[in-house]
Amino acid sequence: MISTSPILACKGCGRTKPGPTGDPTDLFPSESCGGCPPWTCGDCGEACSAKELCSCWVRLDTLPLADVKALFAADGTLSFDPA
Ligand SMILES: [Zn+2]
Ligand SMILES: [Zn+2]
Repeated sequence: MISTSPILACKGCGRTKPGPTGDPTDLFPSESCGGCPPWTCGDCGEACSAKELCSCWVRLDTLPLADVKALFAADGTLSFDPA
């Protein structure tokens, strides 16, 4: 049985979701949400907002390898052939 977890509050503004949305913020507190004002990313220094995310949000190191491969395959900019 899956235990219900509290809907985690946004780290940016403290807003909680009314219910699970099926995205990672169901499991981890979101750094920001649609209710947050734009902020400056601490990693890249770019302006970041819910509508215009900085490049950090597509960092590949947070993705499973299979997803990375799929991303590269779809993008076509890198070959990812296993040796
Ligand atoms: Zn927020
Ligand atoms: Zn960033």
